[in-house]
Amino acid sequence: MRYSDIMIPVQQAISIVKEHTKPLDTSETKPLSDCLGSTLAKNVISSINMPPFRQSAMDGYAVNMHDSNIYAIIDEVKAGDGHQPTLLPGETVRIFTGAPVPDTANAIIIQEHVSVEKNILKAHKPVTINANIRPLGEQTKEGNIALKKGTKLSPAGIGFLTSLGITEIDVKKPLSIALVVTGNELAKAGEPLQYGQIYESNAAMLTSALNDLGYMNVEITSVEDDYQSTYNILKNVISNHDVVLVSGGISVGDYDFVGKALLEIGVEQLFYKVKQKPGKPLFFGKKENTIIFALPGNPASALSCFYVYVQTALQRLSGNEHFELLKTSAKSLSNFTKRGDRAQFLKAIYNNGRVEILEGQNSSMLHTFALGNALVFVPEDLNLITINDTVEVVLLPIN
Ligand code: AMP
Ligand code: MG
Repeated sequence: MRYSDIMIPVQQAISIVKEHTKPLDTSETKPLSDCLGSTLAKNVISSINMPPFRQSAMDGYAVNMHDSNIYAIIDEVKAGDGHQPTLLPGETVRIFTGAPVPDTANAIIIQEHVSVEKNILKAHKPVTINANIRPLGEQTKEGNIALKKGTKLSPAGIGFLTSLGITEIDVKKPLSIALVVTGNELAKAGEPLQYGQIYESNAAMLTSALNDLGYMNVEITSVEDDYQSTYNILKNVISNHDVVLVSGGISVGDYDFVGKALLEIGVEQLFYKVKQKPGKPLFFGKKENTIIFALPGNPASALSCFYVYVQTALQRLSGNEHFELLKTSAKSLSNFTKRGDRAQFLKAIYNNGRVEILEGQNSSMLHTFALGNALVFVPEDLNLITINDTVEVVLLPIN
């Protein structure tokens, strides 16, 4: 495909991203304890009932009900006990939370509702059948699905599967992501800055944004603004990763080699320019199963494009097929005039139905983005926002 210059609208660009990002179906078996945040690749079938026996939910007395409120106490069962006293009607055993309920008991009376004298118990409230007994298999039954394929494992999920005795599970392989940072002017934070240099900040920013979404498998490479080096590095990372993100070098300057290298490598260009601000030069392409985004180097543009497009792609590739950006509408606390006919994503602070558009919307500026938690979307055909107008807001996934 040719390196075309056609600028496409935001909605079309999002649709193209969705069209080319279907869940990747690679999985691996891992110890459950390492699976926080992982997505189940298969249904998990329970090999036991949970609870594995009828279990007392309270401290009290297990009774074999009869038609009087007086019971004879004949034994005691505490949590972890393995014995099984037999109760005749009118008999009871002292029992504690988590203890197995004898088969011949059919209710637990909580200890707050009884009085006891020697071995005689008197119930002060009517007893209901099965009260305070957790039935066998109440949470899940042997042979049933405990958690479905596609479930993202939370601490509760890890706890639940562990409670079923599970130690290993099949989870989706985490996406392998390469981040290639271009720019001769970039210095490493912590080292002295020479005249003409700026500190490289996109790698730290994008890695944090990736980590924030749970993507930890990120390999960072830096490359000079030189065609051959750019070509070699991109070719290598594209053949080894699910997703490649490039920072900078995708614009039209004489030293922007990313677009040329990508096409030379055989990446299919799916779009190159989006009718938006910031982030007009945004390349999206594909080579075999690898998805490639070349993001503008300007930090605020790169991050804005990350949240709108890269996030959408990553979520879908990792199994969340119906992912949509989190959007809401809000009343604007600010006035804003848009120049030109590109759609705009404005850095903003959203709070409780209201949104403040921040100063410093320039695409190089992170100082206000650092305070923001949302982007106000201004469509192509809207040029003026006045205080109290209802505007469309994209909420950012910031932890
Ligand atoms: P580019 O997209 O390569 O033309 O870069 C656009 C602007 O973003 C230039 O002012 C660059 O110096 C700046 N820039 C590019 N990459 C980075 C980076 N990794 N960290 C900070 N600024 C960058
Ligand atoms: Mg550059």
